[in-house]
This record gives sequence, structure tokens and C-alpha cells, in this order.
Amino acid sequence: MQTNFSLAQLADPAMAASEKILRTCVHCGFCTATCPTYLLLGDELDSPRGRIYLIKDMLEGGKPASREVVKHVDRCLSCLSCMTTCPSGVHYMHLVDHARTHIEETYARPADDRVLRALLAFVLPYPARFRLALVGAKLGRPLRGLVARLPRVGNRLAAMLDLAPAALPGRNPTNRPGLFPPGTEVRRGRVALLRGCAQSVLRPDFNEAAIRLLNRHGVEVVQPKGEGCCGALTHHMGKEASAHAHARRTIDAWIAEMDGPGLDAIVVTASGCGTTIKDYGFMFREDPAYADKAARVSAIARDVTEYVASLGLDAPVVESDLVVAYHSACSMQHGQGIRTEPKTLLKRAGFTVKDVPEGHICCGSAGTYNILQPEIAERLRARKVANIERMRPDLIATGNIGCATQIGKGTNLPIVHTVELLDWATGGPMPAALAGVSPRDALLAAE
Ligand code: SF4
Ligand code: SF4
Repeated sequence: MQTNFSLAQLADPAMAASEKILRTCVHCGFCTATCPTYLLLGDELDSPRGRIYLIKDMLEGGKPASREVVKHVDRCLSCLSCMTTCPSGVHYMHLVDHARTHIEETYARPADDRVLRALLAFVLPYPARFRLALVGAKLGRPLRGLVARLPRVGNRLAAMLDLAPAALPGRNPTNRPGLFPPGTEVRRGRVALLRGCAQSVLRPDFNEAAIRLLNRHGVEVVQPKGEGCCGALTHHMGKEASAHAHARRTIDAWIAEMDGPGLDAIVVTASGCGTTIKDYGFMFREDPAYADKAARVSAIARDVTEYVASLGLDAPVVESDLVVAYHSACSMQHGQGIRTEPKTLLKRAGFTVKDVPEGHICCGSAGTYNILQPEIAERLRARKVANIERMRPDLIATGNIGCATQIGKGTNLPIVHTVELLDWATGGPMPAALAGVSPRDALLAAE
């Protein structure tokens, strides 16, 4: 694609990076075929190619974002399906991240939108605030009908109430800073495990299972003090200063471990967070104080399934005939390019694994998307659930808390983290979500 940025514009590193990306696009339109919003809405401006044109025009013209650009960029899920499809290697993620920051800096959103986004950025990355908000949502659920009728924001507030769990998990003993020693005589590795923000409140059992699994495989796990939200949530809203502040804090906590006792990997159980952490090197490339540290962190960040695959999974001690529909989060398959490890591990653990038809299409979760764009998110969830249920599985496994929450609201099938199944199969307890589930036959303990 031909571009016409001035030299003065290209002196800005963010603009120079986007110009480079724009030049790699050859307008072929292959990406439109796998874009969820184009699939649903059929509007070229809601396709990757259309958005690329809009972003180019906005950045090149040095213009503030217009209402039309905001509408179509806001509808983008950042699912990155287009990046997997694109034959020219267009780095759409960096381009749309830049566009979102530009929008945040130059566009005056309507007051209700501004307040809602500020509220999400104020609450979600902080576990104590998020827990309190979920208690409030539970109390407010009987008023859902009234809330939904509020002008302008009603549908989004109702979506928030819908997504809040009916019951909150209690405090989990592993959800704290601390050291979790290996359960073997020989230590095979030492890793930091991201505790993160929303997941630690909604499903602390995911990380509990990861710790047990890693310890059983001879790995020492540390959850360092000072670590918090990775910054992904506010990063996707274009709130760069907030995202960088969260990320810096977490980088500092990990660097202290890397420069102290040492780390073999930074293990992440939420693929949305993993995608952002692996991109820290790019995010901080122009920050003299953090460029090196961020690149070091990115270099050793691993999804938990990547790391366990590198260790080799122990033979299963539980035999089951459960059929698992594996839902690959967009951040897992498109963001991190992890496609085989989770399924290979699940098969090695003895499960029958089924691929979900249209597995490359987003479930509609996408960070805060299911709150900010509830109608599109709802349609994508219905499509995803129909595809999953068509497989007639016993349960769903995924590697991202956002997908677990989003899909879980649309089906009665139990939904668990991949790592919970691996933990169970190699000697851990049965995942709580499977309690009361009667698979095709009884589970047989091998011993
Ligand atoms: S990130 Fe997803 S929703 Fe956005 S343009 Fe690409 S494929 Fe479409
Ligand atoms: S597939 Fe790639 S090169 Fe083709 S239009 Fe889409 S982004 Fe551009």
C-alpha cells in the first residue's frame, strides 16, 4: 500500500512503525473471509482491510479520530484472526493498538461512553475493586430489566450484570504472593506464575491447578510481591499510560526475581495476558528505562501449556472417557500462534479432544468487548456455543478466562481451564466445575 506520511510525521516512532505496517498491506482482502465482524455485519469498513484504510487515512492526514473511524475500530475485537490469514504478514495488532491510542488522545467520546470506560479501567485491573463490583452486580441483578431500559448505556450495564457470576469463589490459599516448592527431590525449573487481576477473582482455581501441576512436575513456582494486572485490559482500550503503568509494576516484580534467584520462564494461564506480555518488548521499545527489561520479560514469557509441553507431561493416573471440546482462544491461536500444544497435552492426558467447527472465529469475549459491544458479542457467543454443542462434548476446555466467562454464560456444559484437566489427569483433584457431571461412564482411578 502506498503511503504519504511527511518526514515530520515519521519522526514519531509510533507513526513510523504504523507506516511500515501499512506498506505491507497489498489490499488482497483475504483477511475479510475470517474476520468475525465482517462475517456478521457484511460491511467492508468492519473488515480488516476496511479498518486499515480508515486508520491509514486518519494517521496520514494527522486528523483527530472521526466518529466513523471510532465506530468501526471500536467494533474490532482485536481477535487477530486477520493476522493468521494475511499472506503479507501485516501486523494488524500493532496498527490497531496505535489507532486505539490515537482515538483515546484525540476523540471526545460521549459522556456515557467515557464514564463507562473509565469505570472499567478503574475497577477491572484491581482484584479488590473487582470483587466489590461483582458483589454489587449480584445485588443489582434483580433490577436488570430496569437497567437495560436506561437510554444509551442500558444494554452495556445489563451486559455487565449478565457476565457477573451468580456466586463468587471464596478466598483461595494459593492466590497470594509466595513460593510454592516442587513436590519432587530434584528441581527441574523455577518459574513465576502471573496471578493477574480478573482471573484471580473469578477463577482462582485455574492457577491453583497450575501450581499443583508444575510442582508435581518438579517446578518451583513463585508469585512475586508487587505483581498485578499485566496492562492488557487498558491497553486494548487505548489507555496507554494506564497500561504502561500496570506493565511496569509487573515487569519490576519479575525482573527482581530474574536478577535474584532466577527464572526459567514467566508462566501465564490467561492467553489474553500472555499475548500482551509477549509484546512488552515492542510496547516499551522507546522507553530507555524499560526497553531492556521488557524485552527480557517477553523473551521468557510462556503460556502454561507451552511450558508444560517443554517439560513433558507425566503419564495419566486417571482414566476417563470424557470428550473435550477444545476452544482455542483467539489470543492463544492468533495472538501467540499456539495451536497444537494444548490439544496434544490433553490427548496425552487421556481425553478425547474434538476441534470446534469455525474454531478460528472469536467467541465475542475480547477483553471488555462483551461489555462495550454487547450485541455483536452476544451473536458471536451464540454462534460459538452452537458450534461447540454440535460436537456433543462432555465439557469444554480453554486457556483464557475471558472465553470461559463468555462461553460459560451461553451453555450448560461445564467449562474448565486446560490446566485443570492436566492436573486432574496426573494426580490432582477433579475440577470443581465437573462436580455432579456424569460423563458417559464412571471415571476409573488407575490405582
Ligand atoms: S482483529 Fe478480528 S475483528 Fe479486528 S479486523 Fe482483525 S479479524 Fe476483524
Ligand atoms: S490479507 Fe493482509 S495484505 Fe490482504 S488486505 Fe488483508 S491485511 Fe492487507
